[in-house]
This record gives sequence, C-alpha cells and structure tokens, in this order.
Amino acid sequence: MPAELTDNAIRVLEARYLLRDDQGTLSETPDQLFRRVARAIAAAEQKYADASSVEHYTEQFYQLLSNLEFLPNSPTLMNAGTGLGQLSACFVLPVEDSMADIFDSLKLMALIQQAGGGTGFSFSRLRPKGDLVTTTGGQASGPVSFMHIFDCATEHIRQGGKRRGANMGVLRIDHPDIRDFINAKRDGVSFQNFNLSVSVSDVWMQAAQQDQTCPLIHPLTGQAVAQVSARELLHSIAEAAWQTGDPGMIFNDAINRANPTPRSGPIEATNPCGEVPLLPYEACNLGSINVSRMVRQTSDGYAIDWQKLARTTQLALRFLDNVIEVSRWPDPRIARTVESNRKVGLGIMGFAELLILLEIPYGSAESIRLAEELMASIAQEARTASEQLAEQRGPFSNWSDSIEANSGPPLRNATRTSIAPTGTIGIIAGTSAGIEPLFALAYRREHVLGEQTLVEINPLLLRNAQRYGLEPEILQTHLAQQGTLESLPQVPETVRAIFRTALEIPPEEHLQIQAAFQRHVENAVSKTVNLPESATVETISRIYHRAWELGLKGVTVYRYGSKAQQVLYLGTTE
Ligand code: UDP
Repeated sequence: MPAELTDNAIRVLEARYLLRDDQGTLSETPDQLFRRVARAIAAAEQKYADASSVEHYTEQFYQLLSNLEFLPNSPTLMNAGTGLGQLSACFVLPVEDSMADIFDSLKLMALIQQAGGGTGFSFSRLRPKGDLVTTTGGQASGPVSFMHIFDCATEHIRQGGKRRGANMGVLRIDHPDIRDFINAKRDGVSFQNFNLSVSVSDVWMQAAQQDQTCPLIHPLTGQAVAQVSARELLHSIAEAAWQTGDPGMIFNDAINRANPTPRSGPIEATNPCGEVPLLPYEACNLGSINVSRMVRQTSDGYAIDWQKLARTTQLALRFLDNVIEVSRWPDPRIARTVESNRKVGLGIMGFAELLILLEIPYGSAESIRLAEELMASIAQEARTASEQLAEQRGPFSNWSDSIEANSGPPLRNATRTSIAPTGTIGIIAGTSAGIEPLFALAYRREHVLGEQTLVEINPLLLRNAQRYGLEPEILQTHLAQQGTLESLPQVPETVRAIFRTALEIPPEEHLQIQAAFQRHVENAVSKTVNLPESATVETISRIYHRAWELGLKGVTVYRYGSKAQQVLYLGTTE
C-alpha cells in the first residue's frame, strides 16, 4: 500500500509535477508519476544487466518513491520519462572575463532553468567597475552590473519554465567591487532571483579575529589595489545580512580541502542553496531519504530502524547513479564534466519530525549525537553502494586523479552525500524540510503555489494533544495566532522542549546540528540559522566566526521579518 499523500502534497503535485495533455488537463495521477519516474530511472540498468534487472529495479524504485521513503530532486520528478533529459537541480557555470564567455554562460543558464535546474556562478574573475576595456577603450561595468543581466534573464525565463529559476552569485571577499556586491540586495528590489554569497578564505577570517588588514586584489593583474580592515568588511556583511538575509558566506578553504578532484581545478561556487560546491560546467543530482519513515514502533514509542535505513540508502544511491546514466545535458562540456566525476548528493529530510517521534529536543546534546550517528551511517552505506557500483560499472573517470585514489577501493561517485533544503519534495513527502527544525507549529507558506498560500498546523502535535495533556481546541486557536507553544500556559516543559521551533533555538545549537551533519557529508549542508526579529548585527558576526571555527562550508542567516516578502510566516492567520 503506497503512503497516503497530504492535501498540501496533492496540491503541489497537481500544480507543477503531474503531466498534462495538450489542453492542459491533468493526464497522470501521483501513483502514475511514481511509476513513470521509477521506470525511467530503472531503464539505466539495461546497460549493465538484463531485462529482469530492469523489472526488478522498476519495482524497487516504485516502492521507495510511493512509500515516500526517498524522493529525488524536483527536476527528476518533473522530467524523468517525459523526453526532457535534464534531471539535476544543481549546476555551476563559469563566468570568464570576456563578453563572449559571459553571454555563452547566460545562454546555458537559460536552457538549464527552463528545465527546472538552478545555477551558481562565481563572478570573481570579472575585472572591477571602471577598469579599462582595451578592445573598445571604454570602462568595464564590473561584476554586479553583469549580474543584473543574469537576474533579468531569469525573471523572463520564469514564465515559460518549470519553476522559478534560482541563482547563486559568488564573489571573493578580496575583489575590489566587494562592497557593491555585499550591498547589492539592500534596496529590497534588486536581484530577486539571486542568493548571494561572499567567498571567504581562512586568512581573512583570522585577520578579522585579530583585527588586521587584508588586500583587495585586482583579479586580472593579481595586484593589491587597497588595504581594508577585515573585521570592518565582515561587519558590513553582517549588517547587510541583518537587513535582508543576503549575502551568505561560503568558506572557500573548507570547500577546497574537501574538493575530491583538485587536479581539475579549484571550486569557486556552489548551486543556489549552497549544498553542492561544484566545478565550472559541473552538475549534481540530489535525493533525500525521509528519515521520519526510517523508524519502527516499540513498546513505548519509536526507535530508528537501522536496517531499513541501510537498505534504503543503498537503493537510493543506485537510483541517483542511474539518474546520471539516463540524463541528457544541454552542453557537451557539462556532459564531460559530469561523466568525469559522477557527483551525487544523497541526504535526508524529516529530521525534525524524526526527533519529535523519538521525543528528543532539536538542538539538545542527544539530538547532535543522533545527527552524527545517522549521517555517519548513511555516508558509510552510500560509500559501500558506490564501491559496488564501481565494481560493476567502473569508477568515475577522474578516480585515479582524485584525493581518495590511494585510500581505498574505487568509487563510482566522487561525492555521495549532501543535505538539500527539500523545500518542495519535503511538502510532497509530508515531512519537515531537510535537517531544519520545525519553522513553526502553525504557519503560512507563500510562493510555492504561485498566488496561493499553503497553511499547515503540525499534525503530530494535534494528533497527540491529549496525550500531552493539551486541550485540542485551545491549542488550535493559540497556534493559529502565535505559531508556537510560547506563551501558552500549562504546557509541560518536556512537550515545550520537543516542539521547540526554529526561532526558539539558539544560534549555537543550529550551528552544532549543521556541523554534526557536515562532518559526514562530502558536499555541503543547506541550513538556515533562523533568528528572531530582535537579533543584532553582532550576533550575526559571532555566528560567522563560530561557523568558520566549526569547519562549516558555508552559513546562511535569516532574521524574521527582514524581507518584505518571506516564504514562511508564523501562525495561520494574516
Ligand atoms: N532549486 C531551483 N529552484 C527552486 C528551488 C530549488 O533551482 O525554486 C534548485 C537549487 O539548486 C537548490 C536545489 O534545487 O539548491 C535543491 O532545492 P530543494 O531541495 O529545495 O528542491 P526540491 O527538490 O525540494 O524542489
């Protein structure tokens, strides 16, 4: 029996995932979608085995999807088996310092976004504003100005595309135009289709800690053009993030220490939500295990079903490798780079729901231990699965050049793991997003279904209200207004702790959870440190330093209410 879909899941599937005929009428059911995707991805088995293997994995994958135990990223759900060959959510494209190169990448961006992929770019190689352009004798407009072209193109592709296109724009902290970049979204209207990240090195973080200066460097000549206070520049990043949520930070040295193929060049950018650092022209497809379904019932509650988790991980990894097999790419350079490294990003969703089932408060020492144990197990099983695939199908072609070449048996995939936001597939699976805590116990969600608003009151809390000694009607009225249990009297402390929401969890605990996962993830971890409206710029500066000390690859903060239009609102009433 396939798992039951929630009303919100059905609404999301109908709006954008289920196929339609020429008249625009729905032509498949959710069950048929899962069959379509399972069949298309199992077809990859043909290359290595006989027809019975294709049948076997079609059924296995169908079970995995329809039981909502694992879902691939949205483009795979939307496009697999439809003739559209692009199934990955994440791409990085180069931006070199020439008109021809910039517009070449712009065209590729358009094709990728049309099919539902997100694109990341490093603009650090562009010469600064005001620099001489020798071919024309004019003045260069600089990285931020060029970013407007990408932003505008995305805005227009959106109408015909599968979903709103998303971009990541990265600029090194030592680029001469860094201040324009840091402040680029502060007017509240520019770059609505971009997330911004400042790429920071260890040297800059140390200099900020010790209050030293660092040089701004011309990207073409390598010459220092100014000396600036590292602490002051970091503070201005915190100020902009306090005001608008952007920019985030990416820690370039941590990313490149984990670059599996340094001989193919340094990694300079990530996909739009930051969970996958990639080389230029590289793509990565993601998938997430719904850990709230990796439990078994015990006499007094729930426990993790480790065997089920191991089986699911192995199957999911095979699924993701098959996705690469059946994918088609908009450009031969992307096809080549993907084939060389075969990166995939298997992660989880439903972590907060799992903790609630296990009655462990999010952010507690026990939750951090569990995060670590859970992800270590997934990483290990994913590695084993990738080794087995390498035996049958061969390793990724850069294997002998990779950092792991001398440390164990060959692998099929240069990276196996990543933690995605699961913004939409989390809704389809009916569970909490990625590794995030519950945003609220009752919330409104905008911008997922165009103009429509999705409303949700946490079903676990409602279902268990009486067991927790709460009067269901009073609870529902309170949550609709406030969104959390805060200020509701007579809630037992243990219940309050289990149902703590994102804004009630201190930044350090958010970071500790992110770090626990990052220790067992080869790519990066998508996580937002949510802050109450009253948080200060200094709090954000401290978060940057802690994130760096903890070895994170990046950090994103969001202060409640700091965007004119945000995605999630506390409570269900406007
Ligand atoms: N993404 C995108 N547009 C969107 C949402 C996501 O291009 O509107 C891409 C982006 O690269 C992001 C990745 O998909 O980092 C994964 O996001 P998420 O897990 O939220 O996607 P889902 O599979 O749930 O739709």
